[in-house]
This record gives sequence, C-alpha cells and structure tokens, in this order.
Amino acid sequence: MKFGTLLIHNGHETDAGTGALGVPVYQTSTFLRRDMSKGPDSQEYDYSRGGNPTRKALEDVIAALENGARGFAFGSGMGAISSVIGMLSTGDHIIASEDIYGGSVFVLENFYKRWGLEVSLVDAADPDQVRKAIKPNTKAVYLETPSNPLLKITDLKACIKIAREAGLLAIVDNTFMTPYLQRPLDLGADIVVHSATKFLGGHSDVILGLAVTRTEELGKKLYPVQNSYGAIPGPWDEWLVIRGIKTLKVRLEAAQNTAKILADWLVKHPKVTDVYYPGLPNHPGRAIHEAQASGPGAMLAFKTQTEEQALAFYKRVRLAAAAPSLGGVETIASRPVTMSHVAMSAEKRERLGVTSTLIRIAFGLEDPEDLIGDFDQALREE
Ligand SMILES: *Cc1c(COP(=O)(O)O)cnc(C)c1O
Repeated sequence: MKFGTLLIHNGHETDAGTGALGVPVYQTSTFLRRDMSKGPDSQEYDYSRGGNPTRKALEDVIAALENGARGFAFGSGMGAISSVIGMLSTGDHIIASEDIYGGSVFVLENFYKRWGLEVSLVDAADPDQVRKAIKPNTKAVYLETPSNPLLKITDLKACIKIAREAGLLAIVDNTFMTPYLQRPLDLGADIVVHSATKFLGGHSDVILGLAVTRTEELGKKLYPVQNSYGAIPGPWDEWLVIRGIKTLKVRLEAAQNTAKILADWLVKHPKVTDVYYPGLPNHPGRAIHEAQASGPGAMLAFKTQTEEQALAFYKRVRLAAAAPSLGGVETIASRPVTMSHVAMSAEKRERLGVTSTLIRIAFGLEDPEDLIGDFDQALREE
C-alpha cells in the first residue's frame, strides 16, 4: 500500500466489536481481571497506564507509518523524548545535535545531566563532529532534521552509519517532516520520536508525543519506561491524533505547496535578507535533504533587515497567528528569540544565527494568494 492509503487502511479503520468506522474512546482507567489466580500479564489490558485499546490503536498506526516494530504514545512530545532518554543510565554519554528542539536541549542539560548522563552538543550538519565526539561510554546519538528554526539539514544516513558502526542508539526527532515526508527507521535509525502536537494531530487542539522503535527488542526496553514514568496521554487526546493522522497527506501536501510559493515570494521581497527553506535551490542542505526526504515540508524561516520590521510584521500580520507551535490548519508565525530559544544564551543564539530579526513560519491551509497579500501589508513601511 502507498502512504495515503495506509493512513486510512491500517488495521484500525473499523472497530471489530461493533463495525463502527472508527476507533472507540476507551475512557477507562482499569479493566476486569478475568482470572484472579493469575497476574496482569495474563490479559492484554489491566490498567490504563500500562495499556488502553485507544492508545494501542494509535501506537499501531504510528508504528506502521514509520515502518517500525512498536509504537508508544506519551502525554507530550517532551514526554516521549524524556522517556526515550530515560532508557539510558547514569554514566552513559549521549551526543546530540546542538540545534534540536529547545525543550530537548533543556531536559538533557538541566535534568539528565544532574542524574549523571554526559551530554555533548555538536553541529550534526557536519557528521565528522558526531564521529569525533564519540567516547568509550557513548551510548546514543540524537538527531533532528530539518533543524529548528533555521532548517539546517543533517545527513541522516551518514550520522546513523557512524552511530551503528560504534554500536550506538540512533534517535531521530521526525516532528517537522512526519513519516509522510521522511522515514528515519528506513535509513537505519533505531528510534523515532514525535511531537504529535504538530502535523500528526494537525489542528492545534492536542498535546501528545509518540515514539517508534525499529525492533521489538528495543520496544521491550522502552515499554517499562512508558509504564513506570507514566507520561501517557488520555484516550480523548489519543483519539484526536488518530483522527488527525487520517488527513496528514492532504494537509501536508497543501501546506507544503503554500510554503514553496511563499518561499519564492519572500526571496524576492526587498525587506527580506535571508530565507531558510530546504526547497530553495540555494539551500546548502538541499541535495542531502532530497536524498532522505520526499519534500521540503511546510516550515520556513526568514530574516528582515531590522528588528523593528520583524516586530511590525508580528503586530500587523492577520492570517498568521503570532504564537508558538506549528503543524496546525492555521498558519503560525513564531519568534524564536522570545519563544523556542528564549532559554538559550544570547551568545549561543547569535552563533547559531537565531537573531532578533528571525521570523519562523509554519504554514497552514489558507490560500497562498491571501497569505502573500497579508505578508505584503505586514512588511510594508508605514
Ligand atoms: C514541539 C516539539 C517538541 C515537543 O513536543 P511537545 O508536544 O510540545 O511536548 C519536540 N520536538 C520538536 C521538533 C517540536 O517541534
């Protein structure tokens, strides 16, 4: 089956019990123990922290879409990421890309470091930096591509090869691309993580995280973390993401098409100094991106000449919500220096190119002509 068909026909299109064309919301915390002489492993469902049929449906769907062995759902993307990192032990070393999601840097540097996890942040867009950071206690490499907010590209195949040769776990945050555009497990990664809050949920109405392991064996190691940390979602939120995923292809195709049109328009705008979008011919990572993903996605960033112009844009823009997050049906304009990257030192932000003139756009489903008209007035001098 091709991807669009798999979004609809994945084993959960009907409810076996009733024939309903959808997965029921099992709003229950607990399940009858059928045989009191036996333990919880004697039946599939026992207590909803450990498993629930609505969650199981979502976990099966994401595992099928990412082409992995087992899927896991969490209460947020950070719940998924923290739980996956929770598979490591005190004294282990993890190498992470320096421009991964801000919350992921924060949990590594401010929580796991305190518990004795060694963390090295490197520029993974240069795979040699990953190779050079490997130490005898290194256990995992953590990657994200395209990066946030500058859409830098990491060569997944090259970095995963380095990780595999050294016997390290390769973990990839695939939130920006989704399995529709990029499937890291097919490129050899071990675990994929998602903020399903974004394109998978797709409607800015739910916070949820997902993880998929390439092998059953890794799934057996992640399951106890999910069950004991307990960062699990509720059934309504699971149901919302199951529903959102059905339209992933049409939503992402439309939003990506708009991103392409707006990227071309922004490049020609006199007040715009730089446009960061992997679909542009001069994007330095374009060839690598095209080799590992089937489209440039629906996210871009651009810089205005001055901070005043950037602030005026947020104030005047009408069809883009000035807000954090991405991947919804509405276009969102966020400001990395006061949102996703606010916890980062000014010096590091400057080094990474996250300036006060930088605007990040996550395209939604509005018509591109209307967005051009709106962006045009938002960038106009008074
Ligand atoms: C939003 C986001 C996260 C965190 O997900 P939450 O659902 O907000 O906890 C992680 N990674 C990326 C790339 C994100 O955009």
